Amino acid sequence: MRATLLITVAAALFTGSAAAQVTLLSNATLIDGTGVLPQSNVTIIMERNRIADIVRHPAIIATPGATTVDLTGKFVVPGIINAHGHVGPTPRDPQLRQYARYGVTTTTSMSFDPDDIAEFKARQKTGELHGARILTVKYRFMSEPFVPGSENKTPGEARAKVDEIVAKGADFVKVWIDSQGGRRPKLTREFVSAVFDQARKHGKLTMAHIVELADARMVMDEGVNIIVHNVRDQEMPAEFLAALKARNVSVISTLAREEGMFVYGDEAPGFTDDPFFLQGLTPEQRVRLPAKRQEQAQEPGRPGMLRALEIDKLNVKRLADAGVRLGFGTDSGGESNRYFIQGFFEHRQMELMRQAGLTPMQIIQMFSKNNSEMLGIDKDFGTLARGKAADLLVLARNPLDNVANMRAIEAVYLGGRKFE
Ligand SMILES: [Zn+2]
Repeated sequence: MRATLLITVAAALFTGSAAAQVTLLSNATLIDGTGVLPQSNVTIIMERNRIADIVRHPAIIATPGATTVDLTGKFVVPGIINAHGHVGPTPRDPQLRQYARYGVTTTTSMSFDPDDIAEFKARQKTGELHGARILTVKYRFMSEPFVPGSENKTPGEARAKVDEIVAKGADFVKVWIDSQGGRRPKLTREFVSAVFDQARKHGKLTMAHIVELADARMVMDEGVNIIVHNVRDQEMPAEFLAALKARNVSVISTLAREEGMFVYGDEAPGFTDDPFFLQGLTPEQRVRLPAKRQEQAQEPGRPGMLRALEIDKLNVKRLADAGVRLGFGTDSGGESNRYFIQGFFEHRQMELMRQAGLTPMQIIQMFSKNNSEMLGIDKDFGTLARGKAADLLVLARNPLDNVANMRAIEAVYLGGRKFE
């Protein structure tokens, strides 16, 4: 934190058109995502799309030409990065706008994206942001009978496909290893090995969808960077946790997804009456909600789903205590009848993480610092610091008192501009 505010702001103001793009968020309490204690009386200076500086007790509050927003009594936290989301199949912009309304400033798209995604991302990088920023796997390597996903049969075909999707804008390379409860074949180790090896040749981070501990071990041994769901068939043994930490493997737990598999079938309405949930539903989803509740109430697999959620929670705490890097993700989005509601699920995930035993500070670090480091975007995103993108949230209440206060969003700043 620096005290030399005058020079920074003056320089910004005298570069012509930049004048109108300087915004001072003053007198805020800042929780910057690094895990340090909140800092009061902070002024954040946003110039163009970045944080030009963060200062305490600034010498000047009213800077000619700059917009000043008084945030006395308010809290500023980093925008939420969602490291496991889905965008599509319907048009992107409404979904990215919905994420942003709920405070998600960056999301991932973890299955299939059409070829225009590369151009779409390029436009976002020039500042054309109508909603959350998007990062993509572009294509998901799956086993039969899933199409798309299982067209590539041999390691050679897998390598060629990696080359193709990287050329078409893939930020990460993902495999999907899931027997669907023993009903389907899984990708072979040989195939996964070829995909990961080819991804590394392109300098891309690798990701794996798994359910079982055995598959988590396999992908770890093949050098995976990020396991994008938690182990849900059993508690993780200590030696495995130690190995994950030693190999710098990150784990995303999608508790909101596990709960979303059965929660709508609960007798008590739970969150389904909550306006904060309902505002995230499309008109069609609102109409179909009673049918969804009925469908899940009759779901024969319900006991297994409840058990998976409980195991996931136990493993979250074990991972955190073992010092494994936990990423923040939800599996939100995708096919509309899943009811994995974009934006709402990220807030629900925070509450479930709290139930799993993490502190609000740990949860804030997960969606900012951890995710940006895990996804390799920490130079520009994640924590709030000088030089980084001005993606941040203004909250009316302190999220450290109760992580549900993350819902008290008064403003979302995306690239230094108020999102509305
Ligand atoms: Zn997913």
